[in-house]
Amino acid sequence: MERAALIYHPELAAYDLGAGHPLNPLRLTLTIELMKAYGLLADGVVLEPRMATEKELLLIHSAGYIEAVHEASDWAAGLHPGTGLGTEDNPIYPGMHDVAALTCGSSIMALEEVLAGRRKRTFAIAGGMHHAHHSRAAGFSVYNDPAVAIAVAKQTRPDLKVLYIDIDAHHGDGVQEAFLSSPEVMTVSMHESGVAVFPGTGFPSETGYGAGEGFSVNVPLPPFATDACFREAFERVVVPVARAFAPDVIVAQLGADAHHADPQTDLGLTLPGYRQLVNDIIDLAEELCEGQLAALGGGGYHIVEVVPLAWTWVLGRLLDVELCENVPQSWRDHVCSVVGHEPPRNLGSDDRFESPPEREANVLKLTEAVIAQVRQAVFPHHGLTP
Ligand SMILES: [Zn+2]
Repeated sequence: MERAALIYHPELAAYDLGAGHPLNPLRLTLTIELMKAYGLLADGVVLEPRMATEKELLLIHSAGYIEAVHEASDWAAGLHPGTGLGTEDNPIYPGMHDVAALTCGSSIMALEEVLAGRRKRTFAIAGGMHHAHHSRAAGFSVYNDPAVAIAVAKQTRPDLKVLYIDIDAHHGDGVQEAFLSSPEVMTVSMHESGVAVFPGTGFPSETGYGAGEGFSVNVPLPPFATDACFREAFERVVVPVARAFAPDVIVAQLGADAHHADPQTDLGLTLPGYRQLVNDIIDLAEELCEGQLAALGGGGYHIVEVVPLAWTWVLGRLLDVELCENVPQSWRDHVCSVVGHEPPRNLGSDDRFESPPEREANVLKLTEAVIAQVRQAVFPHHGLTP
C-alpha cells in the first residue's frame, strides 16, 4: 500500500471572505508551505481533488439550497433568505460553489482512497466544514464535506460502518444531524460546551433517533478544559464506544481550534495535547480497522502559531515521519514576509497552558461529571456498563 496522501489543490485557498473573517485562507497556504519546508510533499504524497458532483451534494443537501449557493456565487443573482448565505459567518463570494464543491471533493477523495485500499491514511486539510445543514450554510461551512464524503462512501458500500470522530472545539452538528437515525454511522464529538459557544448544541442527551439511538455521542467540555480533560474524555468515552461499534473505517475531523490560544474559543488544549489525541485516533484505527483513517481539517483560527504547526505535525505522523522540532528557517522567513511577524521556532513540543491549580481541579471535576452523563446516555445502547 502506498504511503499516506495529502489531498490538496491551491484553488482550495483561492477565496477571500473579506478582511477580518476568521476563515482566512492563509491558514491553508502557510500550512502547505510548512509541509513543503519539512520536505513532506515529495512525489506521490499530494493528490489533486476533483469537485463533488451535484448528485453527490444531493445526498446531504437539498436541490433548492445547492441552487441558492450557485446563484449567490454569482453576485448579481442576489440572496435567498433562510439559506444562511450572505451572513457575517457565511459571506458570499464569486466562485463560492466551486470552492465549496472542491472542498467537498477533497474529503470524498480522502475517504475513497482509503476504502479502495490505495492509501491507509489520508488528510484533506481544507475539509472538515462540519456545520453546514441540509438547506442552510452555517459556521463558515457551505457544504458539509464530512457528511457528503460518508454518504458517498455508503452509496458504494451500503453496509459500511463509519466512525466519525470530531475534535474541533465546536460541536459537529451538521454531521450528527445527517446521520441521526443511522446505526451505521457513529458520530462522536468532543467540543466546548454549547452553553458557551456556537452552535449551542452537542449535549449528552443528543444520542440519535430510532435505529440510530446511541450512535450520536457528545462530550461537551467546560471552558478552560485542559489536555487531561480531553484525555479522560477520550479514554472513558471515545475508546469504549468505538470498540463496541467496531467500525470499518474512521473519519476524523481534526480542527485545531480547541487550542488555548485560539481566538474563537476558550478551551485549554496544548499542541502536545492535540498530538496525543491524534495519536489516540490513529491507535484506535490500527486496533479496530486496519489503520484505515481519513483525516480532515476543520476549525483553527490562530493561523500562524497553531494551525500550520498542528496540521504539519499530523501529516508527518500519518506518513510516519518524525519531524525536527526546530521549525525550518525558510518557512519562518516566508511567514515573516507574508504576515510581518515571526512565527515560533519550535513545532509545538514546548507549548504549555498555564492554568491556576484551583481552576484546573475544577474543570477536571466538571469534565468527570460530563463523562458520567455521556456514559449514562449512550453506554447502555451498546451493552456497556455506564
Ligand atoms: Zn471549530
